[in-house]
Amino acid sequence: MYDLKNHTEIVVQHALDTYLRNNTLSCSCERCQADIMALALNRLPARYYVSTRGEIMTQFTSQALPDQTRVMADVVLAAQQVSANPSHPLDQS
Ligand SMILES: [Zn+2]
Repeated sequence: MYDLKNHTEIVVQHALDTYLRNNTLSCSCERCQADIMALALNRLPARYYVSTRGEIMTQFTSQALPDQTRVMADVVLAAQQVSANPSHPLDQS
């Protein structure tokens, strides 16, 4: 069983988790997080690799990754965009 994985997605997810731990968005529901991921991933180069199910990432892709600073910058930008203009109505409570 093989999976195509985008390592950039893993890095972006990690950067988003870090960002959300330190920042409060107007909304950080699953939908908004997915929107942020999509926005950030569209700006970053994809790094696909084939993985056997359950396999831990090996180091071959790490050299080809966009650098962390750039990933975080794009995540912050995407988070601000989604936060300013969420794709669903916010609760007014
Ligand atoms: Zn939301």
